[in-house]
Amino acid sequence: MKKNTFNPLAATLVITAATAVVVAYCFYFPEQAMPTIIVYVSSIIFMSIILALISWIYKRYGSSVGESEIVKITEDLNTEMMIWSDDFSYIFMNRKIRDLLGVSDDDSNKKSAVLKAFGMNSHDNGEFEKIIGNQSYEARFKNSAGSITSIAWSTSLVKKRKKHSLYLSTGFNLTEIKKMKVNLASANDFFNSSMELAEIGVIMSSDRKNFRASPEMIRMLGLKNSAITLSEFRSLVHPNDRLQFDSAVKSKDTSEVKSIEMRIKSVGGVYRWYSYRYKSIKGTDNTLPLFGGAILDITQEHEKDILIERLAYIDEVTEIANRNKLMDAGQEIYDTCHLLDYSYWIIVLDIDRFHIINDTCGYKNGNYVLKNFAHILYKFVTPGGLAARVSGDNFALILKDYGDNELPIRTVRSIQEEFAQLAVDELASINLNCSAGYSRMPDDGSSFLDVMEHAEFALKSSTGNQGVICAYEPSMHDSIIGNTELEKALGLAIENNELQLFYQPKINLATGKLMGVEALIRWIKPDGSIISPDAFVPIAERSHLISKISEFVLNEGCRQNKLWQKMGYPNIVMSINFTSADFYQSDLKEKVFDALAKSGLEPQWLEVELTESLALNDIDFAVSQMNKLRELGVKLAMDDFGTGYSSLSYLQILPITLLKLDRSFITDIEHDNIAYEIVSAVIRIAKSKKIETIAEGIENNVQESILRMAGCDYAQGFLYGKPMPPEKLQDFFDENMKK
Ligand code: C2E
Ligand code: MG
Ligand code: MG
Repeated sequence: MKKNTFNPLAATLVITAATAVVVAYCFYFPEQAMPTIIVYVSSIIFMSIILALISWIYKRYGSSVGESEIVKITEDLNTEMMIWSDDFSYIFMNRKIRDLLGVSDDDSNKKSAVLKAFGMNSHDNGEFEKIIGNQSYEARFKNSAGSITSIAWSTSLVKKRKKHSLYLSTGFNLTEIKKMKVNLASANDFFNSSMELAEIGVIMSSDRKNFRASPEMIRMLGLKNSAITLSEFRSLVHPNDRLQFDSAVKSKDTSEVKSIEMRIKSVGGVYRWYSYRYKSIKGTDNTLPLFGGAILDITQEHEKDILIERLAYIDEVTEIANRNKLMDAGQEIYDTCHLLDYSYWIIVLDIDRFHIINDTCGYKNGNYVLKNFAHILYKFVTPGGLAARVSGDNFALILKDYGDNELPIRTVRSIQEEFAQLAVDELASINLNCSAGYSRMPDDGSSFLDVMEHAEFALKSSTGNQGVICAYEPSMHDSIIGNTELEKALGLAIENNELQLFYQPKINLATGKLMGVEALIRWIKPDGSIISPDAFVPIAERSHLISKISEFVLNEGCRQNKLWQKMGYPNIVMSINFTSADFYQSDLKEKVFDALAKSGLEPQWLEVELTESLALNDIDFAVSQMNKLRELGVKLAMDDFGTGYSSLSYLQILPITLLKLDRSFITDIEHDNIAYEIVSAVIRIAKSKKIETIAEGIENNVQESILRMAGCDYAQGFLYGKPMPPEKLQDFFDENMKK
């Protein structure tokens, strides 16, 4: 501390010495004593005035400051303080600043110390104006330890005088804060870099109206700056995702982190998928409420998910939902029905005779039909519904039920109409149609699968005609279960060899000799009871069992006929019956060829019987299949002629070798002239086409003679023999050979 001393002793000594000099001078130069004394006294008076003045100044400043309480108090304050006059004649620095500057007590009253404290190398009036302008003045200097210190000085005027004013400067050490700032800045940089590297954008708001976006968020969305309003943010969200965005923004205060996935228009104006993890926090007395979160670009993951979903849930051929998707979504819809008291229709559809389309027109056209059928179905899907390919040519449609019971029928009719129009170009000759069964959920089953199976039961239980639409009725359940049990039993019967062929003789009307037999299947139960084919063939036709049965009939018929030949009996024709499912198989020719090869039977001793309606299902394909069989040398008979369309013009197209007049014409032919006329005309026309004829169901001799007269070639009926086991037929052979 500066000691602003005024020493009275020194002054007295000075005055005494001066008086002694004046007395000595007057003693040696008496002639100049008077003026010398006058000058001396005047000087003394002048000096006294000066001293008085100094003393006054000393009192005024020195005693009031230097010794004041303020100095004592500030000396030990834990903040930097300086009291200084702007002429630097008075300088007081407290211990804190002295220590910081590293100046000694003596040096602290020097102007240089003040300049250093204000961070100046030399006096700068401009800077001092700033200092005394009561602004916060930031000074930087090297402290006693050699490191840079920042002090914010706040200076106030203590006393203002004309020439010199006294100021009090209070310092605030910014060094630590500055360091913290640097740390904070680098932490912020670190945070931003992390977000940038992780490609995570952050957006926060305290009022849920005005948001602040992080630099990465700005970059991702291509924002102009960090400030973005709620409506601006919302306008970037994809319209379809705005509902969930709104509910997120409106979500109640919770510390739980929630997450939504939504599309947000991003840089370049394209929508990208983001996972938005957000949180809302209640404000407290000291903090504002906060809402917001982080967005993470998940477009790639989403695309992968879509791909995975495609693979798992989309049918490759038709590009609509597959069975997996149907089962998952169907069960969800079923659950919704219970929750919201809704109901939905499930319609299962089957393309009629799709195998024919596939076989005749090729897989490419088959796929074309499937794809287009799927697209037609898709057009009928209403919100919340679904169209799916269940398997092969089986499809399903889920429609919301608005209380209109006719909706499934109307919808299927419309689908049928559109579907029929697809039959152009290569498919032109094909009659495209579909059949359907439907049920309603949740009423028609205890689960989605249950309801769907019921719709399938309804479809299966339809007559088998094309274009049938059948509603599920709980009552049909019993008969379906009956059939299903029969199906199981039939499966076992095949395994246990309970199926057996019976043979019914065919007679040459001209010679009365056996010319052939028709193989007719029988199911002989272990108890010996015989089940007629009418009872189980239609059921076998609806399942895969028919192919097993037909394979057995074909092979067994060939084997038996060859056996009789080997046994020395005259060669006869073995007729076997084929169903539509057998006949339209693409490998029909190979199967027949194999059976002939295996048995060693020559093809002319095998005849395949086809019904009229079977052949007319798809006339072009039927003709090509028949030609394939004819190429093998196998005979072809048209069974039950007259029961179906009875168009004689088909005789021209179909490559048949034998026409079997249905029993219904024969039953009353002896009394029914019209029946007789028809039969005679048919026989005549057939003859002109070089097609042989056989009459079924001849039960008496009158019928036989009428048909012989009409020119019929062969006869079959109870008159000659009922269908019989092979051993019995041998007796018949023996009898016949005697004739
Ligand atoms: P279908 O091919 O028309 O067979 C002739 C049916 O008429 C046989 O009945 C035969 O017993 C019966 N029948 C023959 N002559 C007379 C007669 O004079 N009076 C009467 N009332 N009936 C006569 P079945 O054996 O019961 O066969 C019925 C139908 O079952 C057959 O009609 C055929 O469509 C089918 N079927 C029989 N066996 C097979 C088979 O192995 N495979 C296939 N796919 N169908 C078969
Ligand atoms: Mg037959
Ligand atoms: Mg018949």
